[in-house]
Amino acid sequence: MDHFLYRDGVLHAEDVPVAEIAAAVGTPFYCYSTATLARHFRLFDEALDGMEHLVCYAMKAASNQAILKTLAALGAGMDVVSGGEYARAKAAGVPGERIVFSGVGKTRDEMRLAIEGGIRQFNVESEPELRALSEVASGLGATVPVTIRVNPDVDAKTHAKIATGKSENKFGIPIARAREVYAEAAALPGLEVIGIDVHIGSQLTDLEPFRLAYRKVAELTETLRADGHDIRRLDLGGGLGIPYTRSNEAPPLPLDYGALIREEVGHLGCEIEIEPGRLVVGNAGILVSRVIYVKEGEGRNFLILDGAMNDLIRPAMYEAHHDIVPINEPDAAVEQAPYDIVGPVCESGDTFAKGRMMPPVAEGDLVAFRSAGAYGAVMASEYNTRPLVPEVLVHGHQFAVIRARPTFDEMINRDTIPEWL
Ligand SMILES: *Cc1c(COP(=O)(O)O)cnc(C)c1O
Repeated sequence: MDHFLYRDGVLHAEDVPVAEIAAAVGTPFYCYSTATLARHFRLFDEALDGMEHLVCYAMKAASNQAILKTLAALGAGMDVVSGGEYARAKAAGVPGERIVFSGVGKTRDEMRLAIEGGIRQFNVESEPELRALSEVASGLGATVPVTIRVNPDVDAKTHAKIATGKSENKFGIPIARAREVYAEAAALPGLEVIGIDVHIGSQLTDLEPFRLAYRKVAELTETLRADGHDIRRLDLGGGLGIPYTRSNEAPPLPLDYGALIREEVGHLGCEIEIEPGRLVVGNAGILVSRVIYVKEGEGRNFLILDGAMNDLIRPAMYEAHHDIVPINEPDAAVEQAPYDIVGPVCESGDTFAKGRMMPPVAEGDLVAFRSAGAYGAVMASEYNTRPLVPEVLVHGHQFAVIRARPTFDEMINRDTIPEWL
C-alpha cells in the first residue's frame, strides 16, 4: 500500500495534488511520501518484534539526506556500501553504532573513515579484505566488530544483474570455506568476529530462497560456535521484492518474512539485522514527467516524455517494468491504445515501455511512473547534459524540494578549464 492515490480525479501524494508540485518544481522530478516510507520501515521493524534486532536501511536504494533523516528518526540503522554513503549517514545524524558497512571492494581509506567515525560492524567479503581491515584497525589501535559475508550458493530466482547468492557471483566467501576463513579472522589482530552476514539478491518475490539461505546460516552458526567463535549477530541482508505492476501477484509481506526468520534462526539467540532497501522506499516514490509530444509513427505511436533514461535507468538496465499512469484519473470506460513511451535521449535504449496500453494522453499532460522510489534518483545522471532530476518529499499537506534541479550554469561550472586553454 502507498499514499499515491487518485482523489477527486487527480493523483495526490498524501494530501498534495501532484500537479501542484509539478507547477512549483517543474518536470521531471521524483516525489516521495513520508507516510509510505514510515509505514514500510515499521512493517519490517514490527515483523522482528520480540527478537533483538536492528533494521538497517540499505541506503543505496535512495540516499537523500531527508529520506535518511526520516528513517533515522524512526530508529533505523543504515547499511552503507561506500565512504560516501557512510558520510551521508553520519551527516543525517545516524550514530556510528547504527551503521553497517557492506560491499565487496572497501578501500583502506573507506575503512579508516568508518573506524574513526564509529561503526557497528564491517561485513567483510573476502580474505584479502580481512587482512586489509586488520591492518587498518590495528594501525589505528582499534578493534572492529566483523561479520563475514558467506555465499550460500542459493538461487534467488531474480534478474541476473541483481542476484548475488550463487557461487558464480562476486559476493562473499563460499560457505563451504567458512570455517577456514573464520579461523583466520579470529587470529588476526584488530578484528572481533561477532557474526555472519548473508545477502542473496534483490527483488525476490518468493520466500523460499531466503529460507534455504537462512537454514544454511543457522547450521553454520552452530558449527562456528562449536569451533569456539562467539557468533552473536546475524545480518540477513535485504532483497524482499515489491509489486511493480498492479496486476501481479503480490510478493511476500515483511510479516511473513519476519516469521520465516524466527523459524529458521530464532532459536539461536542471536541479535538479528536485516538490510531492506527496495521495499522501504520503492513504492514510496514516483517519477513525475510531462508529455512533450505525441508522435504518430509507422504502425506505432510514441509518447515522448521530458523524463529519460538518465533520470530512471531501470527499464534500460534491468528491463524493468514501471506502471505509468496519467495524473488525471482516466475514466474506467475509456478506450486504451498502445504507445511506445520514450524519453528524448539519443539512444534507442531510452525506452520506458513498448506497446503500453494507455488511456488517451495529450501533449502537456503529466504522467507518473509508479514504484520509482528505489534505485531511481540514486542512479540518475546528467547524460545529454540534462540537469540531475530533482527530488521532493511530501509530508501530509506539506511538500519540500529535498534536492534542487541544478541550473545549466551550475552544471557547466563544475567543469574547470586547464590553464593552457
Ligand atoms: C543492495 C543491498 C541490499 C538491499 O537490497 P534490496 O533489494 O534493496 O532490499 C542489502 N544488503 C546488501 C549487502 C546490498 O548490497
